[in-house]
Amino acid sequence: MTASSGQSGVCSNAKCGHWNNEHNSYKCKETNCRKRWKVCQTGDHGVSGKYALCAKCPDHPAGGPDGFDDIIKLIFIGAL
Ligand SMILES: [Zn+2]
Ligand SMILES: [Zn+2]
Ligand SMILES: [Zn+2]
Repeated sequence: MTASSGQSGVCSNAKCGHWNNEHNSYKCKETNCRKRWKVCQTGDHGVSGKYALCAKCPDHPAGGPDGFDDIIKLIFIGAL
């Protein structure tokens, strides 16, 4: 038996490269949107202890998780 995180392998974001099980995902805040935002929680992206954003909802650039403005962006977010 293994822990059932459902996530294995390495993050698909080339700037991250950490294991998927070191990430957390957050449902997009936009009503009825079921896409997920993916956050690397290793704190290993330039600023110690800071999380980093690896993937976003492609449809709603403002639908990120709380504290999103303070997260290191590993992806292009558009007009932010
Ligand atoms: Zn990472
Ligand atoms: Zn990642
Ligand atoms: Zn969305």
